[in-house]
Amino acid sequence: MKTIVVGAGGGGIASALLSSLRNEEVTLIEAHENLGGCASWFKRGAFCFDAGATTLSGLAPHEPMGKLCALMKDSPLVHIADPGIVFHLSNGKKLHYYKDFDRWMKELEREFPDLKHRAFWKKIYAINDKAWGLLANLNSFPFQEIHQVWEALKAPELYSLYPYLVISTDMMVKFYGLNHPDYLELLNGILLISAQAEAEEIPFLIGAMALAYPRETYAPVGGMKGLMDFFERKCLESGITVLKKSPVQKISSTQVVLKNNQELSADRIILNVPYWNISSLFSGQEKVVIDQELKDPKHAWGAFTLYLGIKAEFKELYQQIHLNHPLVKNYFVSFSIPEDLSRAPTGWQAVTISTHVEVGDWFECEKDVYQARKQELLDLILNDFKQRFSISETKFVTAGTPKTFERYTGRKSGYVGGLPFLFGMNPWKIQGHTTKLSNVFRVGDTTFPGQGLVGVVAGAMALDQNLKK
Ligand SMILES: Cc1cc2nc3c(=O)[nH]c(=O)nc-3n(C[C@H](O)[C@H](O)[C@H](O)COP(=O)(O)OP(=O)(O)OC[C@H]3O[C@@H](n4cnc5c(N)ncnc54)[C@H](O)[C@@H]3O)c2cc1C
Repeated sequence: MKTIVVGAGGGGIASALLSSLRNEEVTLIEAHENLGGCASWFKRGAFCFDAGATTLSGLAPHEPMGKLCALMKDSPLVHIADPGIVFHLSNGKKLHYYKDFDRWMKELEREFPDLKHRAFWKKIYAINDKAWGLLANLNSFPFQEIHQVWEALKAPELYSLYPYLVISTDMMVKFYGLNHPDYLELLNGILLISAQAEAEEIPFLIGAMALAYPRETYAPVGGMKGLMDFFERKCLESGITVLKKSPVQKISSTQVVLKNNQELSADRIILNVPYWNISSLFSGQEKVVIDQELKDPKHAWGAFTLYLGIKAEFKELYQQIHLNHPLVKNYFVSFSIPEDLSRAPTGWQAVTISTHVEVGDWFECEKDVYQARKQELLDLILNDFKQRFSISETKFVTAGTPKTFERYTGRKSGYVGGLPFLFGMNPWKIQGHTTKLSNVFRVGDTTFPGQGLVGVVAGAMALDQNLKK
């Protein structure tokens, strides 16, 4: 079996490794010179910056990254971030989301002494743990055939979790008496970075998983370069052919054509590109078939990013700053591990800052408006950041917009971060990993279950289970 995986983001890398474990002859094709896609990196002087994703999660043995590592019999070097994230609310409250449940509760009790938190957060953790069990059983979701529905119905978690799919996170917050504006600001901050939408838009099943996510946060040693170097080594050790700087231009169900006109034949093709990118890769009748199920996303986010070196040694690596400013609701700061000299010289740190933006604002404007908008956001975030963290010296300040992400990751319109699973959304409309072409599959953060590195690895594992049947 010859398998070609197109796109070496997290989903493509995991799919290539899993295909190789199925004893297939695998070629992993990447357009860029580095692996990683939205979880890639770049260098400026002595600094190595994470381009998009900065955190890692899901490394416990029963979680997707943990399972993949067990299959590879090897793990990347990571640093435990505890607190996972520090939250700075717009009214000055500061909360450390610690790994330990009681420590986290004490933070909430200190800042919100009049509210009762424990029952709500116990519920969140219980649902989160059960949901990972359910995901492992939903290899064929969204279902294509009736027998897949029957298989899913055998999963005991389904019955206890289903009610939380039809209740919004917001409703549960009210039910537990936590409907305080500052509390909602905190929850919405967590939800936006992990589920790409806020409490009233997200079913509690997804909301609970997203709210539990900062509990387990890791920083890869060497940043995303460290993680991607590890994955590339694992690919090469597994006999996978890795083609970098090789954009795929055309695909038929048995052939992949690169930009340099090189033709590669395949028995199976796994596409790790956003689903709205897929159509342009096909032609003729296959394009017609593929187009029947692919539409542009109704809503997805773009990212505005800032990269800079700072003279500092912050130990709390991940922090979310809430501004409630009309242009920037909140921004997420990731500091490199102070001792990690592969990322910054002694006494310095490499910093990536990101915030959610609407993509349309960046594509539908003249060049001077684009530049002015970029500078305005850069100044707004940078000034707040420097003042808040008392930064005196900076180097290599650079900004990225949805246009930058489109250019470097090939993601059409600069949509990043996966698609929100919104309350009331029809679960049957979600893109799964099968396509209407029997030997073409898809993975990645626009495919169920999506969302971050942990989600794309979960998706690749689900496809693997399905292909093994
Ligand atoms: C600013 C930002 C911060 C984030 N923070 C986090 C975080 O802290 N933790 C986390 O887990 N997630 C985070 N995410 C989300 C996470 O990065 C993504 O969800 C995940 O990396 C997506 O992986 P993917 O494999 O689906 O797609 P991508 O990473 O987009 O990979 C697709 C790959 O395909 C390649 N490609 C595209 N077209 C072609 C072609 N025609 N031929 C060959 N190759 C092609 C691209 O170059 C790219 O490498 C963040 C995202 C952003 C943008």
